[in-house]
Amino acid sequence: MNDVNKSEFWNELYRNNAAAWDLKTPTPAFTDLLESEYFSARRTLLVVGCGYGYDAVEAAKRGFEVTALDFSETAIDFAKKLAQKENVNVNFLVEDFFNLTDEYLDAFEIVFDYVTYCAIDPGRRKDYSEKIFDVLKPNGIFAIILFPIEKRIGGPPFAVDVNEATELFSEKLELIISTDKINSIKPRKGRELLQIYRRPDGKKS
Ligand code: SAH
Repeated sequence: MNDVNKSEFWNELYRNNAAAWDLKTPTPAFTDLLESEYFSARRTLLVVGCGYGYDAVEAAKRGFEVTALDFSETAIDFAKKLAQKENVNVNFLVEDFFNLTDEYLDAFEIVFDYVTYCAIDPGRRKDYSEKIFDVLKPNGIFAIILFPIEKRIGGPPFAVDVNEATELFSEKLELIISTDKINSIKPRKGRELLQIYRRPDGKKS
């Protein structure tokens, strides 16, 4: 099984303790974001590709209304237990993000991605950016920590080209921040970049 488009691929990695990306704790740069003006003015949050759910649970603890999506049941089972242990409410969705139904159109004030954009098949990045736009409310924000931004062959994680990503997401969203001045964990220092985009008010084109 070697198809990143299928949940089985990810379930197997989680089951084999091969989830090398897992920080076992909330992402420090995300915790900073939760305190930022961009986040604190908003409430409904989607964590896309939430994995073991540390970020989702941390956001719920701080009062955000959190939906955490991942198509790996193994990851979500763990995340549900974490939420229970921490005594917070998170709406967990075991779904393929690309198949998310219209029920979630214009649904979120914030969408957060860490290590999910680099996990999907690079040939689906345009579809991914469109789906992100679709689920955002007008004036909603998309916060993504682009990683790994160095050149590398193969994946996952597949190399993230900052210019390509910026062009893609800027097709429909407005870039408001792009910075490497974030609290990266040591092995990822210099290899990641935070971007925040805003969905303009008004009708979708
Ligand atoms: N954000 C988490 C997990 C990153 S690993 C963290 O930083 O720890 C990438 C995650 O995306 C995996 O849990 C994988 O199951 C999920 N994923 C990949 N493609 C997906 C898709 N099409 N729909 C939903 N989840 C997906």
